[in-house]
Amino acid sequence: MKIEELKEFIDSIGDMVIVVGRDRRIIAVNEALLKKCSLREEEIVGRECHTISRCLRIPCPAGVACPLQEVLDTGEVRRVIHTHYTKEGRKMVVEITASPLREDGEAAGVIEIIRDVTATYSLQESLKASLERFKKTVKIKELFTDILTHDLINVANIVLLQCETILDREKCPDTRDDLKRLKRNVERLVGMIENAARYARLQSIESLEFRQMDLTEVLRSVVSTLEESAREKEIEIEVRVREPRPAMVNPNIESVFYNLISNAIKFSPSGRRVEVDILDEGRHYLITVKDRGPGIPDEEKERIFERFKRVEKGAVKGTGLGLAIVKRIAELHGGKVWVEDNPGGGSIFYVRIPKEQG
Ligand code: ADP
Repeated sequence: MKIEELKEFIDSIGDMVIVVGRDRRIIAVNEALLKKCSLREEEIVGRECHTISRCLRIPCPAGVACPLQEVLDTGEVRRVIHTHYTKEGRKMVVEITASPLREDGEAAGVIEIIRDVTATYSLQESLKASLERFKKTVKIKELFTDILTHDLINVANIVLLQCETILDREKCPDTRDDLKRLKRNVERLVGMIENAARYARLQSIESLEFRQMDLTEVLRSVVSTLEESAREKEIEIEVRVREPRPAMVNPNIESVFYNLISNAIKFSPSGRRVEVDILDEGRHYLITVKDRGPGIPDEEKERIFERFKRVEKGAVKGTGLGLAIVKRIAELHGGKVWVEDNPGGGSIFYVRIPKEQG
């Protein structure tokens, strides 16, 4: 190929191109290279490629990573990534693909296609930096979760024990009432810490371990732990499902039942009924928790599943984490949760989860 034809050919290529002969002298460069490196043709063509950057301080994009000799020796294509600085000191990351230029079957030189990958590279670098920052944040969060679960809970439990001990020997009715209030508040504090720690832990895991469990059994055991608080408000919890509901779930599924049923009790006025069911939908189960409480306005129906989002409920206290935990657990099971109005008043919370995982 004549040099003019070669030049015309390489000028039509958008990437930078440099053609070097066996004697290491530059035969041709394309317009894209001249433009990107702020060079003139006469500054570079005809010169020994390796000496260019060293002696004339004209940077060669291939630089030290130039695979020229290797390609001449082996006759094989080589690809390298190289960071270099232009005459103006601008950092440029290039990917160089060097292929042998054959004449009568012999490697007469090398044609190097130099692609500017600076933008992709900086994106990768900033992604790497973000990932590092994210990992650090996760570590701090894990540390905080550990402090929550171990240290704070321990102290709160000690206070709880001390309350009980003093309550046992206290005779004065007024002081006993004060102590009972104090005990209830510490219990609430423990509950809040446990919820926050559970939520933080659930957030940082990507997937759960599953095992075969009977959801009806899980539901019954949750109901038995909540019976006392239901009785205090004269609320009857009706478990409609009778049959076993086997599913591949994580034991955390218990928190779904616990949070939904305890909310139904907490937000319902005294004397109302709470109904819980697990419907078989073939490949899924649909857990339903119906109450006759105040209901949830349409504009809040999605928002309440975000953490710390609470609809003002007067004296009813909470952390605003219960439904966020329910949502996270449902999602980790590949399921979903939502709420609808209960016809005739109140709410129905739905959780749909697959029976099998994967
Ligand atoms: P918490 O109960 O600690 O406030 P949740 O995340 O469990 O936090 O609930 C968020 C909000 O959703 C509650 O503050 C309440 O406003 C609303 N909510 C949840 N369950 C019910 C329910 N069964 N009936 C009416 N409102 C509810």
